[in-house]
Amino acid sequence: MPADSASPPVEASPKLTTLTGIGPAIAGKLERLGLRTVRDLLFLLPIRYEDRTRIRPIIEVRPGQRAQIEGMIAHARVIMGRRRSLLCALRDETAEITLRFFHFTRQQQSGLSAGTRLLCYGDVRQGPRGYEIVHPEYRRLRESEPAPVQDRLTPVYPSTEGVTQPRLRKLTDHALANALDDLPDLIPARFMAGLGYPDLHDALRTVHRPPKAMALETLLSGQHPARKRMAFEEILAWHMGLRRMREAGQQREAIPLTAHGPLRERFLRRLPFELTPGQRQAIEQVDADLVRDVPMMRLLQGDVGCGKTVVIAGAVLAAIQSGRQAAIMAPTELLAEQHMRTLSDWLAPLGVRLAWLAGGMSRSERRVFEAELAGGDAQLAIGTHALFQEGVRYRSLGLVVVDEQHRFGVHQRLSLVEKGSDGRQAPHQLVTTATPIPRSLAMTFYAGLDISAIRDMPPGRQPVNTALISQERRHEVIERVAAACRAGRQAYWVCPLIEESDYIESQAAEPTQRELSEALPGIRVGLLHGRATPRERDRVMGEFAAGTLGVLVATTVIEVGVDIPRASLMIVENAERLGLAQLHQLRGRVGRGAEKSHCVLMYRSPLGEMARERLNTMRNTNDGFEIARKDLELRGAGEILGVRQTGALQFRVADLVRDGALAEPAQRVADEMLRTNGPEVEQLIRRWVGEGGRYAGV
Ligand code: ADP
Ligand code: MG
Repeated sequence: MPADSASPPVEASPKLTTLTGIGPAIAGKLERLGLRTVRDLLFLLPIRYEDRTRIRPIIEVRPGQRAQIEGMIAHARVIMGRRRSLLCALRDETAEITLRFFHFTRQQQSGLSAGTRLLCYGDVRQGPRGYEIVHPEYRRLRESEPAPVQDRLTPVYPSTEGVTQPRLRKLTDHALANALDDLPDLIPARFMAGLGYPDLHDALRTVHRPPKAMALETLLSGQHPARKRMAFEEILAWHMGLRRMREAGQQREAIPLTAHGPLRERFLRRLPFELTPGQRQAIEQVDADLVRDVPMMRLLQGDVGCGKTVVIAGAVLAAIQSGRQAAIMAPTELLAEQHMRTLSDWLAPLGVRLAWLAGGMSRSERRVFEAELAGGDAQLAIGTHALFQEGVRYRSLGLVVVDEQHRFGVHQRLSLVEKGSDGRQAPHQLVTTATPIPRSLAMTFYAGLDISAIRDMPPGRQPVNTALISQERRHEVIERVAAACRAGRQAYWVCPLIEESDYIESQAAEPTQRELSEALPGIRVGLLHGRATPRERDRVMGEFAAGTLGVLVATTVIEVGVDIPRASLMIVENAERLGLAQLHQLRGRVGRGAEKSHCVLMYRSPLGEMARERLNTMRNTNDGFEIARKDLELRGAGEILGVRQTGALQFRVADLVRDGALAEPAQRVADEMLRTNGPEVEQLIRRWVGEGGRYAGV
């Protein structure tokens, strides 16, 4: 394997700290975005663009638009309503609009006094007294200074706390001016000839600083050749990286495991249900891998609720009855906790010793956990990515399971495998996902993995009935929840997470819990959010599972994996903000028992066209593949995704749904490049997949 430490650094580029104005504090924040060198900035691509090439008369702007305006502050005052806020009336020759600030320093306030000229940019919304912009980006102008307009579209970068957009723009300006020359085009030109893409440098310039005349829609939808060029390179790099990983994995040895043994037999006999044909087939395929002396690298794919956990348990028992340890890594604490509950229910009676690594554990608890694993007392370890952190050692890890793998980066999966590896030996790997993806995409997404798919559902499931209800009828929904609870049913009430800028619009979970507690006398309403401690979460989930809580108000933390078959009602507020995949996952939390389940998607009018289509799709089908197909169609049709796609391979540019068509040409080019095996292969992988170290070690 390429020894990372021995090879010279590729594409050397000055550290960001060499730039003036970048102190250690900012550098630390940039590092959180993965930015260490000036070159890294070139690959930090905008998530969207803004048109600041012109100034709009205030009288023209409407709620829902983003607009650049210019005017004079007519008056400014601080009001003390529900939240203290600074209101400035900005006036031009045509009209007046309110600028509203919730957070402001004394200095900002004095800079926004009457008579100040401002250039502003922001989202217009309907306020209590006319239109307003909350927290506009603004710049003060001198009295006679002409308002500066941009001659290029303005990029918006993925942001990190404490690094402002203007700063990121300045930094990328610098990188474009100074770092491009040191950035080689790594794909041999003959492969790019037929594809009609610009070269790397042109592509980067266009993506970072699109000319004014360029249609914003093509850029935003990712259809522009400059963007495609970048996506192609990224997909190519991943494809090659995953193939290399596979080859390396297959050169290692694994300890063959005994699939059919007494432990497994007892487990299957005790299960309170019959396996579905899909589950049975998946277990057989896994078994066939486990008994070999080459590490298994298998993906288990199946829609939410199809019963993947049983297959995981089967593999875990194969390891344990062969005298080996197994580890299950879950993407969230909540899911890890639930696996702990389910698997101890199933396996502890068989004498299996489980150990759980929770996020909020004390030092001494953690030491106990580590000792149990290192000494071999624990046969099954369950946790989040903390499972592969410093200090965790396994005595004889035979199997690594990564549940809901689309939530992890490949790096994390690999690290866990490395933990259990010892020179030539590596553990078997089973990764699962509920994300159904078309074959063409699987080619890249899962290059290097064998695939098992579960296509059936446990018997007796009834499709979830889905209704769309406007926010204005919220009280009716509350009544419905009350009626359901009185009839002994349980409900989830999901409040999508509050992003800073969404604060005002979104329903936060805490006030909703208070509100529902008041509106539902006699019914206990629990609260679950990402900031709760593991103990709190465990208690709340335990109470909900036991039925002592009637309603569970939660943020989207419950989106993956949570399995409480008794809950039969799912309410999602602000559903119009969520993507199809996420809605499907959330809805998948109900419809797990024999009881008829319902899902209410609440939305705020007016609905955009895309949001309407998404919600209608949810109402019309329960089929994960159909929903994924619709997702592809909608996004292919130019949905503007302001948010990063969830999870996936941690792509920076490519979107496997949108750029799926690139997978095939990328595979062809990969075949060629891997055959000739020039230094570019490794360089491309490093550029896109990551810092050598971990990756190259595999
Ligand atoms: P997922 O594939 O989403 O991880 P789970 O493994 O959590 O699904 O299973 C969902 C629910 O279905 C669980 O409550 C589980 O006990 C139940 N289940 C799994 N397999 C079967 C089966 N063959 N028959 C009946 N119920 C099953
Ligand atoms: Mg699961």
